[in-house]
Amino acid sequence: MRPLVVGNWKMNGLAEQLSEIEAMAISVKATLPSVDALICLPATLIAQAVLMATGRIAIGGEDCSAEICGAFTGDISAEMLMDAGAHAVIVGHSERRQQHAETDAVVAAKANAARRAGLLAIICIGETHSQRLAGTALSVCARQITGSVPEGMTASNTVIGYEPLWAIGSDEVPTHSQIMQMHAHIRACLTQRLGAEGQKVRILYGGSVKPSSADAILRLPQVGGVLVGGASLKAADFLAICRAAPLAPAHTPTRPKEQRR
Ligand code: PEP
Repeated sequence: MRPLVVGNWKMNGLAEQLSEIEAMAISVKATLPSVDALICLPATLIAQAVLMATGRIAIGGEDCSAEICGAFTGDISAEMLMDAGAHAVIVGHSERRQQHAETDAVVAAKANAARRAGLLAIICIGETHSQRLAGTALSVCARQITGSVPEGMTASNTVIGYEPLWAIGSDEVPTHSQIMQMHAHIRACLTQRLGAEGQKVRILYGGSVKPSSADAILRLPQVGGVLVGGASLKAADFLAICRAAPLAPAHTPTRPKEQRR
């Protein structure tokens, strides 16, 4: 399985920061042909970023509405992201779950919308610190998978981002054995939910991944890549994380449903 390195810029970035995307695109193509790299951006930057990335790095959105169109002021549909040139969209990021009260059902509806539009859905799950301390991390994540991953999703339209909330932006990273245990558990839950497809879905680790920690995390069993917040804002850091990915056979990445534009 090719490692997938996903950046999440959150609510950061003006047009002038797109030079970072250009720098990433040039180096990823030239030096890292066996890594799939994707940067998820604020919607305002997507169309311009797609032009700058010239197909060398994929561009995604950070959220989408479950609806196609209509009276939903301020919302952006998965079809609009696709129309802007996006390949993927993050759904159910913990900041959306917490700050916008998104339930598992809402996240599942958004993942369905991504599938409908032909986007790769990066479905985020993860436990809080108190759930980890209470020993319920595994059951919390199992419940989130059942509730947030629609039936019938496949490895070509779904990626899971395991992001313990206490590790996001905190410089605190779970131990390798905690990551391995959770990823093995997520794999079992996905197999139960999606059958054989669940064996192939990439599971990313996210939470304070830095160039210094990426190498060891990316080599852990069942870790199919990483989801990177702060360290994805600068091309140098993002590329250093991509360089840490173990080598896999090169192939040409395709969109879940080939571009309609
Ligand atoms: C994130 O927000 O998805 C994330 C992983 O952030 P950070 O890498 O900054 O912890």
